[in-house]
Amino acid sequence: MSTMTELSGGPELPQERRLVTAVPGPLSQELTARKQATVADGVGAVMPVFARRAGGGVLEDVDGNSFIDFGSGIAVTTVGNSAEAVVRRASRQLADFTHTCAMVTPYEPYVEVCEELARLTPGDHAKKSALFNSGAEAVENAVKIARLHTGRQAVVVLDHAYHGRTNLTMALTSKNMPYKQGFGPFAPEVYRVPVAYPYRWLTGPENCAEEAAAQAIDQITKQIGPENVAAVLVEPVLGEGGFIEPAKGFLPRLAEFAAEHGIVFVADEIQSGFCRTGQWFACEDEGLVPDLITTAKGIAGGLPLSAVTGRAEIMDSAHSGGLGGTYGGNPVACAAALGAIETMREQDLPAKARRIEEVMKPRLEKLAEQYDVVGDVRGRGAMLAIELVKPGGKEPNPEATAKLATTCHQNGLLLLTTGTYGNVARFLPPLVIGEDLLVEGIGVLEDALAAL
Ligand code: PMP
Repeated sequence: MSTMTELSGGPELPQERRLVTAVPGPLSQELTARKQATVADGVGAVMPVFARRAGGGVLEDVDGNSFIDFGSGIAVTTVGNSAEAVVRRASRQLADFTHTCAMVTPYEPYVEVCEELARLTPGDHAKKSALFNSGAEAVENAVKIARLHTGRQAVVVLDHAYHGRTNLTMALTSKNMPYKQGFGPFAPEVYRVPVAYPYRWLTGPENCAEEAAAQAIDQITKQIGPENVAAVLVEPVLGEGGFIEPAKGFLPRLAEFAAEHGIVFVADEIQSGFCRTGQWFACEDEGLVPDLITTAKGIAGGLPLSAVTGRAEIMDSAHSGGLGGTYGGNPVACAAALGAIETMREQDLPAKARRIEEVMKPRLEKLAEQYDVVGDVRGRGAMLAIELVKPGGKEPNPEATAKLATTCHQNGLLLLTTGTYGNVARFLPPLVIGEDLLVEGIGVLEDALAAL
């Protein structure tokens, strides 16, 4: 099928999977050679094709191949690439002015984004925000604010956590390779506790939430002392750790413990936020109201913007000039965010995410019944995953996962992997993807699994 999308702000882009060369094609290969000559090797590429256009549910490469997009640029283009409202608002802002520096001369779009964040994030308490450029920068600032507010230093993070690649956020991140290997020394006063990972909990999933929470709390109590803890930082659904949904009850118990001890409870919703899991924020699933919440990725339809939002009295702990940065809350990025939020509201994208789950999850569960290699199916909304294992057990199978991804790429499906053990295939389609494309993409996945 080949309908034109109304979702792309760029030239009309056929919403179809189309392969006209091998993957990668000759033009991508040429560009890869140029990349290798001039771009640092540390900057990898999951699928070595070069993008030409993207929108709706597809990404077109320079050779004219068109891929069904199950990655959204790692959960960023939730509203689709070049979404109409993002392009409209950002273009107008580009023409008006591109930068003044919010710390020098403020502008209205910055305030409007903070007003939206106050409205959209969980809890009806007074909230304030500060805007930054990247997810890692938001997390760093959440820690700064929590430390200032509490006068304490320790930060508690979860096993399998991912929070970024800057020095502090590397320390907060669990997985060594590739994120930390050789990049130390890391920031001090970071403590890691177990997470309730049902599929891999040693005593089984039944008591996973209570046992993991008890162990975490015991470690905090014995090893750190709650009176020394500034923040407990969690991802409500762990992203790079492997789309782990902590067993129900675990996060509320940690939040309760934090509240009892004056610890700032921070939800990192950089990957899970902004409609991705079928709610505006993933922590709504268990009625969690974090003291601080970090957002980025989906917030601005692809432009670099991030935020820390939280209780006004905590956010106001920082003195004037203590928070900021040259580009933080750039006006074009803020305008794009207002366009993305407008799109999410008008097209009811939380409902779209729930619909994607409804279509995809039963198909994934069927795959788990059919193939031993699929050990677990999990996730919510349009943040879904399968965990691949060696048949007959639960030993991680990163080789099969890599092969699955490559086969999908060669057949026109942009698929991402993730996980501490590199054995999770994750599905993050743009929420505006057409249902026919979604179903076709699942078909490519099913064929690739069958071929394994
Ligand atoms: N936190 C989470 C939960 C993330 O998924 C990511 C990015 N994958 C980050 C923080 C870091 O964001 P950024 O890459 O924009 O610095």
